[in-house]
Amino acid sequence: MHHMDAFLINGLMKVLKFGGSSVGTPESIRRVKRIIESQSKPCIVVVSAFQEVTDSLLGAARMASEKNLQYRDLSDNIILKHKDFIEKVIVDQTTQKALRETITSLGAELREALDSIYNSDTLARELTDQVLSFGERASSLIISCYIEGSIHYDSREFIITLRNSGDTEVDFDLTNQLIINKFKNCVGLIIIPGFIASTSFGKTTTLGRGGSDYTAAIIAAALKSEKLEIWTDVDGFMTADPKKVEKAYTIASLTYSEAMELSHFGAKVVYTPTLRPVYKAKIPVSVHNTFNPDSPGTAIGDTRENGNGSPIKGISSIDHIDLITLQGAAMVGVTGTSARLFGALAGHAINIILITQASSEFSISFAVKPSDSTSAADAISAEFEKEVLLNKELKINVEKNLSIIAIVGEKMKNTPGISATLFKALGRNGINVIATAQGSSELNISVVIKHESLTKALNVIHDGFFLSRYKEINLFIAGTGLVGSSLIKQLHSQASLLFDNHKLRISLIGITNSRKMIVDKKGIPLESCREILKNDGEKANIGEFIQRIKKLNLRNSAFVDCTANAGVATEYGDILSGYISVVTANKIACSSDLNYYRKLKGIASERGVRFMYETTVGAGLPIIRTISDLVLSGDTILKIEAVLSGTLNFIFNEMNSNLPLSTAIRKAREKGYSEPDPRVDLSGTDVVRKILILAREAGYDTERDDVKVISFLPDECFSGDLNDFYRCVEKYDREFEERRIDLLKNNRKWRYIATFENGKGSVELKSVDSEHPSYHLEGSNNIVLLTTERYRELPMVIKGYGAGADVTAAGVFADLMRVFNV
Ligand code: ADP
Ligand code: ASP
Ligand code: MG
Repeated sequence: MHHMDAFLINGLMKVLKFGGSSVGTPESIRRVKRIIESQSKPCIVVVSAFQEVTDSLLGAARMASEKNLQYRDLSDNIILKHKDFIEKVIVDQTTQKALRETITSLGAELREALDSIYNSDTLARELTDQVLSFGERASSLIISCYIEGSIHYDSREFIITLRNSGDTEVDFDLTNQLIINKFKNCVGLIIIPGFIASTSFGKTTTLGRGGSDYTAAIIAAALKSEKLEIWTDVDGFMTADPKKVEKAYTIASLTYSEAMELSHFGAKVVYTPTLRPVYKAKIPVSVHNTFNPDSPGTAIGDTRENGNGSPIKGISSIDHIDLITLQGAAMVGVTGTSARLFGALAGHAINIILITQASSEFSISFAVKPSDSTSAADAISAEFEKEVLLNKELKINVEKNLSIIAIVGEKMKNTPGISATLFKALGRNGINVIATAQGSSELNISVVIKHESLTKALNVIHDGFFLSRYKEINLFIAGTGLVGSSLIKQLHSQASLLFDNHKLRISLIGITNSRKMIVDKKGIPLESCREILKNDGEKANIGEFIQRIKKLNLRNSAFVDCTANAGVATEYGDILSGYISVVTANKIACSSDLNYYRKLKGIASERGVRFMYETTVGAGLPIIRTISDLVLSGDTILKIEAVLSGTLNFIFNEMNSNLPLSTAIRKAREKGYSEPDPRVDLSGTDVVRKILILAREAGYDTERDDVKVISFLPDECFSGDLNDFYRCVEKYDREFEERRIDLLKNNRKWRYIATFENGKGSVELKSVDSEHPSYHLEGSNNIVLLTTERYRELPMVIKGYGAGADVTAAGVFADLMRVFNV
């Protein structure tokens, strides 16, 4: 056993604090015991209430004050839970019995306090603190019985608060003296409850939620202990709250100021006032994980280190704040307005989290806890009664449902461009900054945003400042036909490669077809998404689907359209406006009204997202990209001549004496070359759309009427349904066969050629001789000849598979990768 004199003489002792999450279950209590037993130095151990107990106690107090009798059941349950715990961890029967009796009497006190609340008209803080104290008193007693040879002390004997309230104001002169006196003569391992304190009159108080950290720091500072260790359920102080930012990682070291700043702005891993006393006493602090004791944790001290290369150390947030703005001409140049304002707030003990003043001095805004909001507004209304009510020179405005995010780091001072990175990350993701403030120490920049965007904002900021382990892409797919299914298969088979080589993780968040839809924030497994859609999906509704995915408000999002549906195409504007990129294989949006096409491009560039449609022409062939690159680099497209229908090329290549036109069409459909409705190909509609898209990409303002179509099938074939169509084509099978033989004799072939030149397009079935570049075009291939200023004599040729679900899906995949700069 260690002799306690050493405590004070040499500072050779440590203070260890175990939070509620470390003492939640009998299993974790065993871990705590192992950690304590492995210490080579004497220590004082501060413990929190068992996990969730403080919340339940607070719930019971509220119920009692609302005259809800269920507080009795709730308190019985809390007491029972502790007795269960005792049974599970304490082996010795005598100890067990004694401890249960202690809990019974603590329970009686608890019940008495709750009954008093029930019988009184107001929820007095004094009584609430009495109720809350049960948690730490019970847990510390149980733990000290469990850890043999330890001594239990009640912190109410030596931690004294100034006011009888739940406040954190500690009477340090008195407290420090009492602590020194208390521990001067003690020996052994000491276990004490965190969080609870008392007034100098002996009334129980508490140090505020999360206050056990503070208890430990106060003791460590008073005794000049060698070290303070905070043991919790995460590996240390992290770059952000891991519950909100999955990619957050542990920070190796922080200065006191950085850690204080982060905890001031919500990093609850260390309770806000905790670091003040240890900072003054220069006591090194570290944060560790009870569930991973071997990991190095975070060291908090004096040394500045910038291990991770980022100019900031961490990001924290306060989830709920209200922003109060005092605004009006009376603010301008009137000295003393701020003094009056803050004087009024201080008079009502309102804690101001952040202040910002517009440079015009027309307004001043400050953030407060929502629970302080009403009294803050009342306080300033009273102070400025004359200006607000009589002269109407000032207005008070309260904005609710807001959050604050702060980025923190000492290195920020010397690094330009931090705000730019911050605002760019937010802006690009459609997150509006309502107010901003920079701490005068330049240790932090904070922004106020809508609460609904908090998680997204934290994540995009984290992505912006920290090299992340991976990038996450959130995907929404419409269409599970041939292209959609093939894409899903390809995504699935590439997934691990993309993760290993490009640190890219693809999450399918939503999927819909014409029958069913499903949106799941947690992600839908690619390998079984089609079955899940079929079995668990709800009735499809594309409008509703889009609204839901927009509401999710996820970063790095892309919507992939693998349908040929006009209804889906009309949604793109809405999708892009929601900062979601669109990748489409559906030609309709780009080939309908020129204005719509322009509008989509406009929204995409305004929002900083991508609108990609490479596969609308020539499947996976790099046609649109090539034209766009040529134009961007200053070339002019003079003429486009192309075979753009893989389907028609396949049909005319396949036809022979045993395979008439109608059968060749059926075969093209079966092979998945044609559009779902092959008439779209046979009528020329599909090719018209494609040449229109190319002409527009080449910079021409082309509308559909600018493209002339000469049909090779009579109009009558297109008047009925699909069966009528096949029957009608059959009537012409013989005629086409005869014409084909004629062509063959003359060494010519049919090619369905689209041309665009001088602002006009045409689409026509032509016969070409062996000199023509398309003569040897096999199967379902496409060919595009681009005559440009630079490629005038010999046109540039792009040629290859131009149809088929797999190549189209691969093209969509490639577009998707380009969206995210892979
Ligand atoms: P304890 O019960 O040990 O006091 P808390 O729940 O009070 O634990 O604090 C630990 C929690 O703090 C973590 O589980 C984590 O969700 C949250 N947290 C918020 N910000 C951070 C951060 N920057 N680093 C680590 N944890 C954080
Ligand atoms: N048990 C108290 C709370 O939950 C104190 C603490 O855990 O630090 O707020
Ligand atoms: Mg805590």
